[in-house]
Amino acid sequence: MSTKEDLVKFRRLIHRNPEIMFQEIQTSNLVEQHLKSLGMSYESQIVKTGILSLFDSGKPGKTILVRADMDALPIHEENDVEYKSNNPGVMHACGHDGHTAILMSLASELKKDPNFVPSGRVLLVFQPAEEGGGGGDQMVATGILDKYSVDAVFALHVWNHIDVGNVGVVDGTMMASVDEFEIQVKGKSGHGAMPQYTVDPIYVSAQIINSLQSIVSRNTDPMEPAVVTVGSIHAGEAFNVIPEICVMKGTIRTFSKKVYESIPNQFQNLVRGIAGALGAEVEIIYDRVNKPTINSPQMAEIVRRASENILGKDSVTEEGARTMGGEDFSAFLNARPGCYFFIGSRNEKKGFVKPHHNSRFDFDEDALKNGLDVMKEVIRLFLSN
Ligand SMILES: [Zn+2]
Ligand SMILES: [Zn+2]
Repeated sequence: MSTKEDLVKFRRLIHRNPEIMFQEIQTSNLVEQHLKSLGMSYESQIVKTGILSLFDSGKPGKTILVRADMDALPIHEENDVEYKSNNPGVMHACGHDGHTAILMSLASELKKDPNFVPSGRVLLVFQPAEEGGGGGDQMVATGILDKYSVDAVFALHVWNHIDVGNVGVVDGTMMASVDEFEIQVKGKSGHGAMPQYTVDPIYVSAQIINSLQSIVSRNTDPMEPAVVTVGSIHAGEAFNVIPEICVMKGTIRTFSKKVYESIPNQFQNLVRGIAGALGAEVEIIYDRVNKPTINSPQMAEIVRRASENILGKDSVTEEGARTMGGEDFSAFLNARPGCYFFIGSRNEKKGFVKPHHNSRFDFDEDALKNGLDVMKEVIRLFLSN
C-alpha cells in the first residue's frame, strides 16, 4: 500500500470509530498495535490513553517532539459518507482523526526510510483530550519533556479555513488563550412590584454584562486582541418575582502574555465592584483552560522553509492562520520552543468547506500527505542544524 493509501485507511478507520476526551481507548489501541507491528518501542497509558514512541537515529543530536491529538467531539455526524461515524453522537469534527493518521504514518516512514532523520531523536506523542480536557497540560505535567530531553516541539492541524496545498503559520501568537468563567450573583428575592425590599440579581447581572465589555474597550491596549463573551445566563421563573440568584457563564480570550496575565484581576475587580456597589454577593469560578499558543520565530521559519521545499514557493500563508480559538499544544510551547501550524484542507470544488466543529465537517484527504511530508521535512531541517 502506498503511503497515501495508508494515510486514508488510518484516517477513515479512526473517523468511523470516534471517541471523546479520555475515552480514546480503541484509537489508542490502534496506535499501539501499529507501533507494535512496526517493532517500535513505546510507552502507553500516559494520562489515561496517551502513547509515546521514541525513534533514535543512532547519531548524536537534538530531540524533536511531534504531537497528534486523538479525541473526537460530542457531535452527531450528518455527513453521508462511507466512513461516517459508527458512534451516534460522537464525531471527528475537528480533524484529529487526520492528525493521528499522519503521526501513525510518520512512524511507518521512520521505520521504512529512517535516513531522512540526519541525527538525534524523534519523539512521537499521541495525546488525549485536546478539546477542553487539558490533555496537553497533563501530558507536559508528567515530565516527558525533561525525561526525553526534548529540544523543540511541533504540531500541525488540518485547517478548513486554508486551501489544500497551503500551510498557515505565523511568528509569535497563533491562537488565543482560553479562560472559562461562571459568575453566581446572589441577591434577595421578593415581589416584582416592590423592588425596594429586594436585591435584584438580574439587574445586577445586566450591569456586570455591560461593564465586562469595558475590559476590552477601556482596559486593554487596542493593539492587543481580546474577547469577553457571556454565553449563558439563567435566572428566575415568573414574571412578577425577583429571583434570588442569577448564574452567568462565559469565556475570555487573549493573545499576548501581558494581557493573559492582567485580565483575571480586571475581571474579578469589576464583577466584585459592581455587585458590591449594588448590594449583591458574587461567587466566581475562573478556570484558565489554555495559555496562548505562541510560536518561536526560529521554529516558524523552519516550518516555512519545509512548506516551501515540499509544497512550493507560494505555499506559505498568514491569512486565516491567526485565530481567537484555543489550542492546548500551548502547554508544550510554553515549556519548549516550537511551532504549531495549519495544513490547508479546504477544497471548494470537492465541497470541503464546512468549519471545524460543524456536524457536516469533512476535509480534503490530500491534506494528509501534505501534512506528513511537511512534518518529515520539518524534522529533517531541525535535526540538520
Ligand atoms: Zn476542535
Ligand atoms: Zn482541533
